[in-house]
Amino acid sequence: MTSLKTFDIQTVREDFPILKADLNGKPLIYFDNAATTQKPQVVLDTLQQYYQEMNANIHRGIHTLAERATAAYEETRDTLQTFINAEHREEIVFTRGTTEGINLIAQTAGRFYLKQGDEVLISAMEHHSNIVPWQMICEEKGAILKVMPIFDNGELDLDAALEMINERTRIVSIVYVSNSLGTINPIKPIIEKAHQLNALTVIDAAQAVSHFDVDVQALNTDFLVFSSHKLYGPTGVGVLYGKKAILEAIPPYQGGGEMIKDVSFEKTTYNELPYKFEAGTPNIADTVALKTAVEYVNSYGKPVLANQENDLLSYATALLTEEIEGFIPVGTAKNKVSVLSFRIEG
Ligand code: PMP
Repeated sequence: MTSLKTFDIQTVREDFPILKADLNGKPLIYFDNAATTQKPQVVLDTLQQYYQEMNANIHRGIHTLAERATAAYEETRDTLQTFINAEHREEIVFTRGTTEGINLIAQTAGRFYLKQGDEVLISAMEHHSNIVPWQMICEEKGAILKVMPIFDNGELDLDAALEMINERTRIVSIVYVSNSLGTINPIKPIIEKAHQLNALTVIDAAQAVSHFDVDVQALNTDFLVFSSHKLYGPTGVGVLYGKKAILEAIPPYQGGGEMIKDVSFEKTTYNELPYKFEAGTPNIADTVALKTAVEYVNSYGKPVLANQENDLLSYATALLTEEIEGFIPVGTAKNKVSVLSFRIEG
């Protein structure tokens, strides 16, 4: 195992070329990391290197560039398998991002398993991406979407949430870390209760994977999704984790290229996992660069990054409370990441 780099804020700033630019005559301080993160030079270098040294379509050519590009793309899958501790590499499916991941699950597992009168549970702190795909499939199937409540401080009402999981529940889809409140949800007991009642679990980990280690086997969730661009990687690529047996059981999402084994006008046999869910030419370059982004995060280690983030959160909360009259923080859960939402009275 390679040793971790020392975290020095000036060196870290140097890693991000966009932070060297002045904006309106001032050094750039960027706060909007929950929306998307900036990219370190190493990620930008990988993108350039990919196009300069290996650009080709993957999985179908046997020439040198095709082999290089395929190897690089598949190496990212291995890196991501380790990153979230998936049991099998074919449980890692590349998507366009969190939103596409949840739509994929709703349109495949949702369509396959939901029946009239079944219930899908989400929480009151979901991003739209974990609301609308469920509304769409529930409407189509005559299923009912229910919302697990939260307290005023932004914590999930866990007792009420567990109470809502019953024999009609087919799917529980919940955010791990809220993008607006910062709340880290107690997803383990929710997953356990869902499984006791034979419901599937989906975890929106878009805001979780950059802050702390996420272990899909320890969580024992059926699905988990996140985006590269919130993890210092490029836009346009995301990860869907699904348990192998479930991914094998459910139908494919989109048809065409890559997801087929044999095609005739009469019948198509689908490809094996994970390619069954990766129709068409994927976002090869950005996927290759996602590996570099994960390696960048790992080079410091998430506990070190989390420490820095927690220090900044405490500093900013104290300073704003002191300096701004009528400052009211929104989302004060005991267990939260470094997001600072607030209102100002009046
Ligand atoms: N879920 C959460 C919790 C998010 O923060 C976001 C992005 N703001 C999404 C889902 C959607 O991610 P994307 O736009 O990358 O698909």
